Amino acid sequence: YIASMDGYTVLRVIGEGSFGRALLVQHKGNSGHYVLKEIRLPKTKSGMESSRKEAVLLSRMNHTNIVAYQESFEADGHLYIVMEYCTGGDLLHRIKQQKSSQFSEDVILRWFTQMCLGVKHIHDKRVLHRDLKSKNIFLTDKGIIKLGDFGSACVLNSSKAHAHSYVGTPYYVSPEIWDSKPYNNKSDVWSLGCVLYELCTLRHPFQARSWKSLILKVCRGAYPPLPNHLPYELHYLIKHMFKTNPRDRPSVHTILTSHRISKLLQKHL
Ligand code: ADP
Ligand code: MG
Repeated sequence: YIASMDGYTVLRVIGEGSFGRALLVQHKGNSGHYVLKEIRLPKTKSGMESSRKEAVLLSRMNHTNIVAYQESFEADGHLYIVMEYCTGGDLLHRIKQQKSSQFSEDVILRWFTQMCLGVKHIHDKRVLHRDLKSKNIFLTDKGIIKLGDFGSACVLNSSKAHAHSYVGTPYYVSPEIWDSKPYNNKSDVWSLGCVLYELCTLRHPFQARSWKSLILKVCRGAYPPLPNHLPYELHYLIKHMFKTNPRDRPSVHTILTSHRISKLLQKHL
């Protein structure tokens, strides 16, 4: 069996990005639905290698809270990655659906715990995601969180981890990145903090009219306080995830095991 587009029927386009498209497809063999991500391969050898990294790194993951890799193949200058379809769509879309009605504390903690478990799996494999944001986090029909889009991911300590020019949305970028320091596991924790804050308030923690004032706010770690009704532990957690010095930020392992916070997450673990 050689994997190719011939094995799938395209149903519709579900996402469009700078590198290509995400298509909803049906596998002709098992009739299951999948997402097929189509990525234009650059002409240069190094560009090609870095595009292939997305498939390689995703294929190495094996966790309930990470989008399951199915297969990948190349044809006519494109790379195709087939993965599990998350029918609930992305979390940004889900947040926008709320209009202004807040998520319950229970939902926030359940989703956040699952995100931590997914990120812990990634970090345990010495991989950094580098593009954690609500648009790259998906939901299944059963409300299970799945981390996706490994298009920016890299292996920790590889020389390429340092030379990352940022292209996406700037809201989730940590102070050290604006300061041209290398990306590390705590930079993912910062981004995860931004998603947690979004779940708590339906807003970005760091927002501004200009790039300059956005970067200033991020580098000061200055965000509007969380609503008072949220438990003390969530205030505490956010405060620590937004420590401007990455060394002062907890690792995902610490978040999941440290006494103060894990007690709150315990019933979702
Ligand atoms: P890009 O690199 O272009 O951001 P993504 O992998 O993030 O590509 O996919 C783009 C969009 O397509 C996502 O934001 C999401 O809305 C949708 N999408 C991608 N993968 C899935 C999936 N497995 N299940 C459901 N929707 C998906
Ligand atoms: Mg994306």
